Amino acid sequence: MSKSIIIIGGGAAGFFAAINCAKKNPSYLVTILEKSSSVLSKVKISGGGRCNVTHACFDAKELAKHYPRGEKQLLGAFTKFNPSNTIDWFEQRGVEIKREDDGRMFPVSDSSQTIIDCFLSEAKEAGVVVRMQTGVEKLSITNNQLSIHTSTNETLLADAVIVTTGSSHNVWTLLEKLGHKVIAPVPSLFTFNVNDERIEGLQGLAVQEAAVKICNSKSAFNIPPSALLITHTGLSGPAILRLSAWGARELASVNHQFEIEVNWVNKDLNAVKETFKFFRQNHPKKNVASNSLFSVPKRLWERITTLNLQSATLNFADLSNQQIESLGRELTVARFKVSGKSTFKDEFVTAGGVDLAEVDFRTMQSKIVPNLYFAGEVLDVDAITGGFNFQAAWTTAFIASQTI
Ligand SMILES: Cc1cc2nc3c(=O)[nH]c(=O)nc-3n(C[C@H](O)[C@H](O)[C@H](O)COP(=O)(O)OP(=O)(O)OC[C@H]3O[C@@H](n4cnc5c(N)ncnc54)[C@H](O)[C@@H]3O)c2cc1C
Repeated sequence: MSKSIIIIGGGAAGFFAAINCAKKNPSYLVTILEKSSSVLSKVKISGGGRCNVTHACFDAKELAKHYPRGEKQLLGAFTKFNPSNTIDWFEQRGVEIKREDDGRMFPVSDSSQTIIDCFLSEAKEAGVVVRMQTGVEKLSITNNQLSIHTSTNETLLADAVIVTTGSSHNVWTLLEKLGHKVIAPVPSLFTFNVNDERIEGLQGLAVQEAAVKICNSKSAFNIPPSALLITHTGLSGPAILRLSAWGARELASVNHQFEIEVNWVNKDLNAVKETFKFFRQNHPKKNVASNSLFSVPKRLWERITTLNLQSATLNFADLSNQQIESLGRELTVARFKVSGKSTFKDEFVTAGGVDLAEVDFRTMQSKIVPNLYFAGEVLDVDAITGGFNFQAAWTTAFIASQTI
């Protein structure tokens, strides 16, 4: 029997859901309603125009760990559709996917347009109707069917609706009116604004393995040591972006004014002190400021040691135990005041959205409203950078499409 399936939002999750639903059920009428005059606009700009479609992480448990919100719920979902399914899906449609050294995966064309072209042609072939400039303004239930009122002043009835509107505040309000709880949205994936003489003018320098944590935090985030980059506005790099994602809610609650502790060398204080003592003993005539240890970039080392010792001329032999203690602390537990945030390469995601407790992740169906489904960023799911956000969109969209 023919059914009418309406997908609200013509982004990554919307197209993936529509194509898979229409292909599986050729008799269904599948329609995408998109409020703006273009579709897939975030896919277009994603990954710096290259579209980082997924990540080379093929173990569901490992993969789920990249989601500060959604880890538990996505675990089961990833057993149904994961990065290897994503790669196969695209390759079966002639889009080859390559892996970069850090695990990020892109179309070999290095162009997001390849993904867009694939979606547009697949949607056309599957008979998906795409209606642009058709925003959804009201959602209600009429005689067991979902009723959708649009900006074009039409009322459409659907047997099933998949909401894939990303972080649209208006749609979250509509969903609240239907009885859903929406977790308040806050930004995730941002860099930290730090104005401090220890890093001033050193933009571009990176420390490969730094450990960073939020001072006095209520939560202990299990973030592995990773690269820390100094920028003209403060601190960035994977170590900071991960902390911004895991701490998104806590940091929003303090208006992004907080303190962090940086361990520049990813070693404990005693190990660092021992190294200084070794140099005092074995290389007494070497100048401290100009002999960087622990792979700290030269200019950063020079800045940190000179400020800490209040001298650029001291040799290792001149260091007192007290100075070694102080230098060791500066390298392992350096405190920095963060005053606000900046956007990372215009790439950001929103933490918050439809409360996951009200969605059955085996089907992606609402537990509150029958025949209502969710996929993508409209949910309270988000990840760190690396292709994980799109993977969540593909996975949830695929499950919703197959259930319908
Ligand atoms: C600059 C940038 C780069 C990124 N790069 C990457 C990357 O390389 N890899 C990665 O994994 N993630 C990346 N992300 C995150 C990724 O883009 C999102 O996680 C993903 O787009 C979410 O897909 P979605 O379909 O849920 O939402 P969206 O892509 O935001 O799509 C939602 C759609 O719904 C439409 N809509 C909203 N309200 C209505 C309404 N009332 N009626 C009808 N339509 C409506 C919107 O216009 C939009 O077209 C990036 C994000 C940004 C901002």
